[in-house]
Amino acid sequence: MNDLQRSIVELKREKDAIILGHNYQRKEVQEISDFLGDSYGLSVQASRTAAKIIVFCGVDFMAESAKILNPEKVVLHPNLRARCPMAAMVDAASLKELKAQHPGAPVVSYVNTSAEVKAESDICCTSANAVKIVQSLPDKKIIFVPDTNLGLYVQRFVKDKEMVFWPGYCPTHVNITRENLERLKEEHPEAEVLVHPECTPDVIDVADHAYSTEGILRHVQTSSKKEFIIGTEENMIHRLSKEAPGKIFYAVPNATCPSMREIALEDVRDSLVKMQYRIELPDDIIIRARVPLERMIRAGRQE
Ligand code: SF4
Repeated sequence: MNDLQRSIVELKREKDAIILGHNYQRKEVQEISDFLGDSYGLSVQASRTAAKIIVFCGVDFMAESAKILNPEKVVLHPNLRARCPMAAMVDAASLKELKAQHPGAPVVSYVNTSAEVKAESDICCTSANAVKIVQSLPDKKIIFVPDTNLGLYVQRFVKDKEMVFWPGYCPTHVNITRENLERLKEEHPEAEVLVHPECTPDVIDVADHAYSTEGILRHVQTSSKKEFIIGTEENMIHRLSKEAPGKIFYAVPNATCPSMREIALEDVRDSLVKMQYRIELPDDIIIRARVPLERMIRAGRQE
């Protein structure tokens, strides 16, 4: 650890704070996080922590989810520029219009949505449990927002349901192309190809498996294979290398999320020193958005 990292660890102790870090955070931020994980795992940690302050090193909707699950706690988001472009692709007013066009159809919203959109949803999901959540609903028609690619992945497993999609997508995962994956496969024929379900269907078709980031980690830890091509945000490889030593990982070109990289160590330190930037949400939104998030947590993971 460097001096700045040590001073952050000290500040955490003084203030009774916990740092939750997403798997796509910069390596140096991952190193000072108390918990690393995907959206699902971090939501669970946020719902369980006894710490007074949560510093959320991830994008905007993740910090909001932590606040929704802990309205009495101080939730800090160290850099307000860390905003997920996919979450910004759907808003509550447009979702209400879509609901009016499909009366009675429940809304499954990916956690990559604003608190207002969650407040209009019946249940949330993450890439770790999207199939399980949709399968658990008795309804024949489901509104799924905002990621069409994740929705199309789910549809492979729920052929009996009509899924209504929203034209949202993750700019980072659509940068992962079939051509780049195939080139890597040619260069590393022994490698297993693991991709995220936010990738486009043609990419998922040529992969060996599609998993959430935690699913990818568990797979590489238990697989007898030694080499892996990783089709998700490149920073994930830091965690994989640390927690699956001896395995070899190849990143797919251009798979970087600029929003996730916004948070620097200096932002985390300033966040704890100045208690910035506090997530504040209207009470009625917290009460309504909490229902679909808690339903998701009760449903658990599938992988
Ligand atoms: S990787 Fe995609 S979904 Fe995740 S924060 Fe970045 S843009 Fe949003």
